[in-house]
Amino acid sequence: MEQLKAKMRAEGSVIDTHVLKVDTFLNHQVDPIFMLSMAEEWKRRLGDEKITKIVTLESSGIAPALILAQLYGVEMIFARKKKSITMDDSIYTADVYSYTKKLSHTITISKSFLTEQDHVLIIDDFLANGEAALGLCDVIEQSGATIAAIGIVIEKSFQPGRQKLLEKNYRVESLARIASLNNGEITFIEEKT
Ligand code: 5GP
Repeated sequence: MEQLKAKMRAEGSVIDTHVLKVDTFLNHQVDPIFMLSMAEEWKRRLGDEKITKIVTLESSGIAPALILAQLYGVEMIFARKKKSITMDDSIYTADVYSYTKKLSHTITISKSFLTEQDHVLIIDDFLANGEAALGLCDVIEQSGATIAAIGIVIEKSFQPGRQKLLEKNYRVESLARIASLNNGEITFIEEKT
């Protein structure tokens, strides 16, 4: 998505060869008009794919996921992150390791919010090693729901997340794909969508 790439070039800070900071519009301050443009782009790409729920992970996925849910007229669920949980049979859980934060979370979704009839679109801000997305797929599939696609704002394609998701036959729709963050610069993978 050209508009996203331009915004990343103008406002993103390359922290090191593996981490990009986009706090001005996505991870801290949120640009709602831009969230709408991204949501429209995912909806365009997904065409007439049936979607009954949008699922994301707190907190940075919530803004784009909510606007997309509004476009589809469906509910948005954000999986919660907890450091540890006591046994609770009313929730689905999966363990997710965060390489950026160097810690593990248990992510949870209430069993009452997903059914076997649901067709879920997963949304997240970044795709790096794929841990967060795979954890979300795990909790959703425990409910018997179908995963229609995984929508990502920024994919760091030099990390293995995308490949891991494709190997499991998930559809991945990333709005921007980064080939490298070397020399303090963002280099994109150019593709036709
Ligand atoms: P993964 O689970 O795919 O390794 O990483 C995805 C999660 O880590 C995202 O939800 C995001 O919160 C965080 N993350 C990974 N890479 C970056 C990055 O370069 N910048 C920021 N701001 N967050 C990242």
